[in-house]
Amino acid sequence: MAAKIGLNDIDVKGKRVLVRVDFNVPMEGKQITDDTRIQAALPTIHALIRKSAKIILVTHLGRPKGFDPEQSTEPIAVALSKLLGQRVKHTVDVIGPEVEAVVSELQEGDVLLLENVRFYDEETKNDAAFAEKLASLADVYVNDAFGAAHRAHASTEGITHHIKTCAAGLLMEREITYLSKAVHNPARPFIAILGGAKVSDKIGVIENLLDKVDALLIGGGMTYTFLKAMGKQIGNSIVELDKVSLANDILKKAQARNLAIHLPSDDVIGKEFKPDTESKVVASGEIPEGWQGLDIGPETVKAFSEVISTAKTVVWNGPLGVYEFEKFAQGTINIAKKIAESEAISIIGGGDCVAAVQKAGVADRITHISTGGGASLEFLEGRTLPGLAALTDKI
Ligand code: AMP
Repeated sequence: MAAKIGLNDIDVKGKRVLVRVDFNVPMEGKQITDDTRIQAALPTIHALIRKSAKIILVTHLGRPKGFDPEQSTEPIAVALSKLLGQRVKHTVDVIGPEVEAVVSELQEGDVLLLENVRFYDEETKNDAAFAEKLASLADVYVNDAFGAAHRAHASTEGITHHIKTCAAGLLMEREITYLSKAVHNPARPFIAILGGAKVSDKIGVIENLLDKVDALLIGGGMTYTFLKAMGKQIGNSIVELDKVSLANDILKKAQARNLAIHLPSDDVIGKEFKPDTESKVVASGEIPEGWQGLDIGPETVKAFSEVISTAKTVVWNGPLGVYEFEKFAQGTINIAKKIAESEAISIIGGGDCVAAVQKAGVADRITHISTGGGASLEFLEGRTLPGLAALTDKI
């Protein structure tokens, strides 16, 4: 895909700039419980203020069915006002005459946050008339919502058909820079660590990365589908029986390419899927009936750590065990620490891994923590992100 224009390529002084942000923050009532996503968009907003743009922000929040005051973006406007140190205006609609009136009064450097764009189901349907109305509010479009770039919605894709200049924001640029360098031109050795509950969620990533990585480390629930394919004893561990032959194909492909796939050599197993269940460590592939594998064992942590210590690029997606339960969190936490200690460029995606590096207290030593779980997975699968593809090419 051609490179896209960014903030440095556009003239925005005095212009109305509509910025698609991803402010889909977790809320308890009207309280924002984690403002990471708002913080992540601040560099773009600050840059546009400095360039004297009239800034109109638009985001989705949750999955509302029609207008729902419980999912209004108003509390976000209040929080953003505090972060920016200036009043952020808010409209009770996304399009229409009232919004147009507020926009027409914006001064250079003003910031306005529109109501939740998903109050209109035209948004997710990528309705052309809705996209055109949204576009009519602005002269320039900026997409900084990496987390929503894998969706072709009215505010991420449709709108770009009605505005001539469509640029990537600073967060979008940062995400793409790190992910594309890893996928297309990585410092080597390049290793990928994949975990999480299911093989089916990561098949696309595994297949795309098989040709690109120097080693693949696999942990978490998806391990057991691979072990089953190898004829090992997995007890009552989570397994996708309909994916066993696919796991077999992947192992064969890797072997044919001389690629090392590292599977766990030991597991921490539990009697039940419960935080305080009885647990013990066994050799991988020797899990008795009535027990299930819930974390990678200490030998595996050691072996994976050795591979990580040789890497120059590490991409990690998916926890290596049920890290939500203290007893089965050690594998994931220790690997997070090893990645942080290593000199490699580290790129982490997916809500669970982000939570795990925070739990391990090493988030500040990871090179790039992606703000978009689904979008970063699709990028790693080699798929085109519609919200990115739709932006104006750099010439
Ligand atoms: P994903 O969204 O696919 O990345 O999966 C994340 C979930 O996988 C987390 O909630 C983990 O608890 C779960 N998980 C990781 N390892 C295992 C395992 N061995 N057995 C069951 N669930 C697991």
